[in-house]
Amino acid sequence: MNTNHTILVVEDERKIAELLRDYLMKAGHDVFVQDRGDRVVPFVKSRMPDLILLDIMLPGMDGMEVCRQIRKFSSVPIIMITARVEEIDRLIGLELGADDYICKPFSPREVVARVKAVLRRIQPAQEEKTVLIFGAIVLDDEKRMVTIDGQEVKLTPIEYGLLKTLMIHPNRIFARNELIKIVSGYDFDGYDRTIDSHIKNLRKKISHCLPGQHVITTVYGFGYKLESPR
Ligand code: CA
Repeated sequence: MNTNHTILVVEDERKIAELLRDYLMKAGHDVFVQDRGDRVVPFVKSRMPDLILLDIMLPGMDGMEVCRQIRKFSSVPIIMITARVEEIDRLIGLELGADDYICKPFSPREVVARVKAVLRRIQPAQEEKTVLIFGAIVLDDEKRMVTIDGQEVKLTPIEYGLLKTLMIHPNRIFARNELIKIVSGYDFDGYDRTIDSHIKNLRKKISHCLPGQHVITTVYGFGYKLESPR
């Protein structure tokens, strides 16, 4: 398996940055370290890393603003690092577009595992796989056919688009307006609640085949994600 990804670590605490660098290098990645927020955007534009670990409290520019600026031009996976666990809900609500959050103090091993998980998650999109599998749900994009637990399920074009988007990026949280834009190709400003009824119908069709399983999770005040039932 190819693990040779380029990771950018943005962290101003030298010891933590070095620790992360060592562990990520041992895991087979190429690692760059930046210690100032205001240097990140130019770096990302020139070097295009495969993933960014981004601390929030940084000199020059804070990690949230850095994340916002990167999202204007790149969908590179970003894992935010925060010193406070309570901060995570707020961060998700800010719609920064980060892919995951890690709370300090962390074990470097946990960080390496999260990096691996995020990189694995983006793989299907890069390879443009035509068959997506999530648990018992199989989406064959070539045939435009969805089967759940072996049964074929008829979906409307919007439901199909929603499911496909969620299956390409399982566990990623999508804002309502983001989902609308992806499935319709348009930005329906102010109509983002219309997505709720499509999600509701999609959930109904899924739970008909998988009773009691809630795979599409609502992230309160934000949007939706596809998640393995616990
Ligand atoms: Ca810091």
